[in-house]
Amino acid sequence: MIPLSIPNISGNEWTYVKRCLDEGFISSVGEYVNQFEQVTARTVDSQYAVATVNGTAALHISLIVAGVKNGDAVITSDLSFISPANAIRYVGAVPIFIGAEKNHFQMDTNKLKNFLAEDCETKGNELIHRKSGRKISALLPVHILGQSVDMEPILQIASEYHLTTIEDASECLGSRYKNKPLGSLGSIGCFSFNGNKIISTGGGGMIVTNNSEWAKRARYLTTQARDNELEYIHQEIGYNYRLSNVHAAIGLAQMEKLTHFIEKKRRIATLYQENLSSIQSIRFVNESPETSSNYWMSTIFVEPSENNCRKLRSYLRSHNVESRTLWMPLHLNLPHSQCEVVGALDSKDIYEHALCLPSSTQMSEEEQLYVIKNIRDFFEN
Ligand SMILES: *Cc1c(COP(=O)(O)O)cnc(C)c1O
Repeated sequence: MIPLSIPNISGNEWTYVKRCLDEGFISSVGEYVNQFEQVTARTVDSQYAVATVNGTAALHISLIVAGVKNGDAVITSDLSFISPANAIRYVGAVPIFIGAEKNHFQMDTNKLKNFLAEDCETKGNELIHRKSGRKISALLPVHILGQSVDMEPILQIASEYHLTTIEDASECLGSRYKNKPLGSLGSIGCFSFNGNKIISTGGGGMIVTNNSEWAKRARYLTTQARDNELEYIHQEIGYNYRLSNVHAAIGLAQMEKLTHFIEKKRRIATLYQENLSSIQSIRFVNESPETSSNYWMSTIFVEPSENNCRKLRSYLRSHNVESRTLWMPLHLNLPHSQCEVVGALDSKDIYEHALCLPSSTQMSEEEQLYVIKNIRDFFEN
C-alpha cells in the first residue's frame, strides 16, 4: 500500500531518544523540551513557544490565555479537522463557522465580512452577534492542507473590532503568507505534531506567541497551574498538558529535517501537477502568489460528475494506493450542528469532491508515478 502521509524517521531521532533514556530524563522536564521550543520559535519567527501534549491542547490553552470566556462566540473555519471547534467548546464558548472559498479551500474572508456587516453590531468596544446576543471574542482561522487563509482581511477585522486572532497552523508548519510564517501572524498560533503532520513527535503540539505574559501563563496552565516550585499550591484549575522530553527529542530531530521535508512535499506537488493537469476533470489546490505552501497534502478537486471523487478513492484503494477525502464540514457534525454557519454551500461541495493524494516525504518517484498512472487510468476508462 502506498500510504497517504506517514512519519519520516531518518535523522537524529534514535540518537536523541537514546540520550533521554540513558540519562533518565523521560518526562516533562528536560533539555529537549527547551530546545524543541526554541527551534520552533525561531522557525516561525515568534518570540515564545510552549510545547504541549498535542495540537488540541495547544488550541485549548490558547483560547484560555487569549481571554475567550464561557458564553462567548469564536469565529472559525467550517472546513477543518474538528479539533479547533471542540477546543472552543472546552472553554464554554460556541463556534460560528465560516464556509470555505473554492480556490484554496480556506475560510472565505468575503463571507466573513458580509456576516460582520449584516449579522453583527458593535456595542462599545464589543462585537455582538445579533441573533444569539453573544459577544464575539476571537477569530480562529484554520489554515488547511499546507495552504493559507487570506490573513490580511482577518488581521484587519481583528484590529477593527478588537478581536484576538488565534491561528490554527497545525497543517502548515513552514508555510508563509507574504513572507511571514503561518502561526506568527495573529496574536497566538498553534501547531500539531501528530502522526501525519509534516513533522511528527508521535503526538505533540506547540503554542507560539510574541506575548510574554501569555507564554508564561500557557506554561503555567499546562503544568497544573502550580504556583510554587517547592510547594504544591494552586490558585486556579490547571491542566496536565506538557510534552515529554522523549517526544521533544523526536521533535528536535524532526525539526532538523523540516526544510528537506518541505522541499520534498513541493516536489511531490509539482510532479502530480506536471503529469495530471491535462486531465480535464481535475483541478489542483495551489498556493496563491502571496503565499508559499509546505504542500503538506497534495489535494485535487474532482469535477462533480457521477460521484467521481469517491469512485476514484475506491479505485485507488483497489490498486493499493491510499487517498483521503476531506472532513465533513463541521456544522454538519452532530456536536456542532446547533451552531451558526455562514456560507456553507462551498464547504459542502469541496467536501464531496476533494481528494488528498499520497504525499509522504519518503515516497519514491517510482511510487508516485504508479499513483499517477492509476489516476490517469481511472479517468481514461
Ligand atoms: C492535526 C490538527 C489539529 C490538532 O491535532 P492533534 O491530534 O490534537 O495534535 C488541529 N487542527 C488541525 C487543522 C489539524 O489538522
